[in-house]
Amino acid sequence: MNNNNKIAITKINNDDVKSAVFEALNLINAGNLFINPSMKILIKPNLLAPKKPEKAVTTHPAVLRAVIQWLKQFNPKRIIVADSSGTYLKGITDLAFEVCGIRKVCEEEHIEFIPFERTKCKSYKVESPLILKEFPASRLLEEFDMIINIPKIKTHINTKLTCSIKNMFGTVILGYKRKIHKLCKTEERLNSALVDVYSVFHPELTIVDGYLCQEGMGPSMGDVVKMNLIIAGYDPVALDTVICQIIDFNPSEISYISKAEEKGLGTSDLKKFEFVGSSIRSVRKKFKKPKTSIKRIIIMNSRLVIEYVYKTLTRQSITFNKLKCDLCYTCSEICPVKAIILPEVLEEGKSLPRWDKRVCIKCYTCAEFCPNKAIELKKNIIKNFLNSWLSIIFFFSILFLIYLIFLLF
Ligand code: SF4
Ligand code: SF4
Repeated sequence: MNNNNKIAITKINNDDVKSAVFEALNLINAGNLFINPSMKILIKPNLLAPKKPEKAVTTHPAVLRAVIQWLKQFNPKRIIVADSSGTYLKGITDLAFEVCGIRKVCEEEHIEFIPFERTKCKSYKVESPLILKEFPASRLLEEFDMIINIPKIKTHINTKLTCSIKNMFGTVILGYKRKIHKLCKTEERLNSALVDVYSVFHPELTIVDGYLCQEGMGPSMGDVVKMNLIIAGYDPVALDTVICQIIDFNPSEISYISKAEEKGLGTSDLKKFEFVGSSIRSVRKKFKKPKTSIKRIIIMNSRLVIEYVYKTLTRQSITFNKLKCDLCYTCSEICPVKAIILPEVLEEGKSLPRWDKRVCIKCYTCAEFCPNKAIELKKNIIKNFLNSWLSIIFFFSILFLIYLIFLLF
């Protein structure tokens, strides 16, 4: 067996995360990856949302710090931490970076943190796609020599599990994630999209944060479970299979694992691996699965209503700055729903693209991609309220209230 077939499971004793991370990485001889000292390394944590570390939604800062300290032994030329949060809100990744405790770690360790949406992006093609032919992501992902994946063990209401493979979905920039979710309404299609993204960006090394995990209604509303584990290896397909065994889930029920294996992106045959450190049996703990209960339906629907009201009121309209726009076509080409139409006769300095607000899904990918910063986003809460269903609902609620008062008195 070669070194790349090793999987390490180590226990975190007395909250000493650093020792567990160092032990796991040394057990799988991960230092062999860093023979060349001038490497540029991109660390991809899970920064789903701005939540405090104890909520177990994002990669724990202590795990990230230990990985950075371990990497520094090999004098890499550059280390950065980069990610893009789960929903589109301007500045959300920066906020997550702050609240999750990652900013503090990066500042103290003198490491840059870069939200993917603030970098130059390009469209990446998927070879033999299951569903996504291409998707936009940061150019940083091809400029760095190595991607190190630091996912977290969490249950997921749509895909049952989120860990090594699914964490790479965070490489898709903010607005386009929404487009993918819109395109992939069934669980099967979403699983295919996850594998397509993973097939473009697969990490050389994965260190699973199994310190504080989530069971039940994950990935953000589940119950916290202190597992005190670090799992490290090179094959995310195998690692996700190991995680399933640890938390007593059936890997065949998580279809992105088998889809990735069928696509030749790894193997779930654990007999091909050498296990070092603790055994799966000694760390096993049955996790609660995400369930469709009345409580969940109520919570989900209330969330959807709040999200709808928020998005409706804060949605931004698009205008083009005619001094900056040079009709380069980028926004029109990148728009996932073709809501930007370029004028047929290009009169330089006079014509501007046209925005079709009825078609636009407000992903703002166009603004992220415009090379000249010529797309301006404007928010008008009162106008948004008056132009939406909210004003009609509000109007009828007032009428109903007046009617009730009339009946009572
Ligand atoms: S990407 Fe920017 S510069 Fe290019 S056409 Fe669109 S608005 Fe104009
Ligand atoms: S026009 Fe609308 S849908 Fe198209 S990229 Fe811009 S925000 Fe997204």
